[in-house]
Amino acid sequence: MKKEQRKPGFFYQTMAETIELIALGSGSRGNSLAVRYGDQTLLVDAGFSCRELKRRLTVSGVDPGSVRAVLLTHEHSDHLSGCRVFCDQCGIPLYLSGRVADRLSRDGASLPSRLCEFEPGNHCDVAGFSVAPFPVQHDAVDPVGFEVRRGDFRIGIASDLGKMNAAACRHLTDCDALVLESNYDPEMLRNSERQYYLKRRISGRFGHLDNQSAAAALRELVGRRTRVVLYVHISSECNTYELAHRSGKQTLVEMGRPDVQLFVVPQQDPLPPLTIRRCDADM
Ligand SMILES: [Zn+2]
Ligand SMILES: [Zn+2]
Repeated sequence: MKKEQRKPGFFYQTMAETIELIALGSGSRGNSLAVRYGDQTLLVDAGFSCRELKRRLTVSGVDPGSVRAVLLTHEHSDHLSGCRVFCDQCGIPLYLSGRVADRLSRDGASLPSRLCEFEPGNHCDVAGFSVAPFPVQHDAVDPVGFEVRRGDFRIGIASDLGKMNAAACRHLTDCDALVLESNYDPEMLRNSERQYYLKRRISGRFGHLDNQSAAAALRELVGRRTRVVLYVHISSECNTYELAHRSGKQTLVEMGRPDVQLFVVPQQDPLPPLTIRRCDADM
């Protein structure tokens, strides 16, 4: 049989061995996550000021000029606040739901000059990344999570969701890396000084995911491919990084998956970049 010859370009295009996740910070005072493949970077949310985003990217070793686009999960300010200035300064587009774009322009919000609207449920190609926005349950206009694919890698991202739904399960199952909210500890929320309506809102179906629900979701979502889990959007008043981590880690151990690395993303500073390698078994 004739031996197959591969062109060098084909080889390099399809055989990149790593993808990087750079969690720039997460919590009610700002959220942003970078996904880097080769020399191209996508940002998911830009909830810090442009200056702070650039600082966090730079200390993480990411050139802000390598960012090709920002993807917006929903219009709450802890996800949106730096989008306009960052996108316009870098000359890149903001990808967002068409319904969110309509609402923001009706409300007179200042938006980046380049907007790319998506429909949750439809894929879009963003600078070589395949991005699937999917609907999540949260008290915003048209909130989404994202499944980002590049090469053989799949990254699942869902922050700010009151409850898992079928679409989230479908897109987040067996990703190489899973980014999931683990917002509050139910007992700490009950005992907190927060007003009753706020407690109802946070713990409702359109609020935020608590530690137990996040742990239950891990049992559904972590699969053979999964190497890394990032817990995000930890409440500063009604949770601690230690509690969230302990709950997730214990679940992974009970599942027989102590090999899966679990990190809790802090608010103050970026996590060191995480490199995800292709596993031999997947090739
Ligand atoms: Zn939100
Ligand atoms: Zn948020």
